Amino acid sequence: MTRTGHGAQAPQEDLAAARAGALLDIDLDAIRANYRLLRARAGGAEVAGVMKADAYGLGMAQVAPALVLEGCRTFFTAHLDEGIRLRALVPASSTIYVLHGPMPGTAPDFLAHDLVPVLNDPGQVHEWTGAARASRRRLPAAIQVDTGMSRMGLSPADLAGLGAPADWLAALQPRLLMSHLACADVPGHPMNAAQRARFEELRALFPGVPCSLANSSAVFLDPAFHYDLVRPGAALYGINPQPEQPNPLRQAVSLRARIVQVRDVADGAAVGYGARWIAEGPRRIATIAIGYADGWLRALTNRGFAFVDGVRVPVAGTVSMDSVTLDVSAIPRERIAAGLAVELLGPHQHVDEVAAQAGTIGYEVLTRLGSRFHRRYRMAG
Ligand SMILES: *Cc1c(COP(=O)(O)O)cnc(C)c1O
Repeated sequence: MTRTGHGAQAPQEDLAAARAGALLDIDLDAIRANYRLLRARAGGAEVAGVMKADAYGLGMAQVAPALVLEGCRTFFTAHLDEGIRLRALVPASSTIYVLHGPMPGTAPDFLAHDLVPVLNDPGQVHEWTGAARASRRRLPAAIQVDTGMSRMGLSPADLAGLGAPADWLAALQPRLLMSHLACADVPGHPMNAAQRARFEELRALFPGVPCSLANSSAVFLDPAFHYDLVRPGAALYGINPQPEQPNPLRQAVSLRARIVQVRDVADGAAVGYGARWIAEGPRRIATIAIGYADGWLRALTNRGFAFVDGVRVPVAGTVSMDSVTLDVSAIPRERIAAGLAVELLGPHQHVDEVAAQAGTIGYEVLTRLGSRFHRRYRMAG
């Protein structure tokens, strides 16, 4: 990890950065500050860190230890493999929940790596209670109930079929009762109140079990949504949890790509695949070393922007696999040269803006960020 807060970088690091086509800087201090802000907003609720998809593309190996420094001791992954990888990165006393739960035959892996499954359907309940009987101890588990999103969790019919929770919970050590909101990013959406009311009813069936309902967005709803533990992912990484409000969180990524070549084109020249951009008058085109293979979405064709010296320049033409063409005519020629890194994410352009231009959400932009970037992690301490 590069800790730019501690003096000069190693020379090898400088060389690697100098030859990289694109540079992704991840600000662990921003992620830590976002964690603290979430903790302040969550009142007394514990704040877990959601680490799925390699910490939303930013790197679980660096993000998880940074959150540990802030006192985070509960984590969520989606896949079992992610949980296994995370186990080596956090203190042994930390709790790691695996959202997808125990698939058939995976109970030994959960036990070997001290992972707590989220039980989402009767099959998973049977898988885990069976493992508990076989190991002759009460095994920890989170129980997910569906309160209206119809994606994961025990349905009312599932619960009825399982019989009295007190009976099947006897084999387990229930650590958490959880559900997930479908519309928490829209504060006034009637689904929020409806799901919370449903959660309240179901909670009564699981007396004494700690509860969790809130993702990032729900941390910013009424405190009644917080319960005992909140589960933010996106907000840790700087995505605005309430898109209609100013973003209270710090952006955690900066992405820059280098100019590979610059050319002047004549009036009427076609640029890029499909000739989807035609020069209106003489223009100057800079080609940069990033493309859809790096997660710079093809939907940004003729739509996205980059920044040169803080000046916005538009994408001109189709986003290719490894390159993007920009119309840099607005920038003085002497400021444009091969090797110059232009800003794609950073102080002038937020993840959420790029997402809006591409017709998607910040979550998708972050989780698509590619593996070819030169990655640097900043943590001042
Ligand atoms: C992804 C996920 C979260 C985190 O959601 P954010 O919107 O990123 O905060 C929380 N809980 C569950 C069940 C999830 O799948």
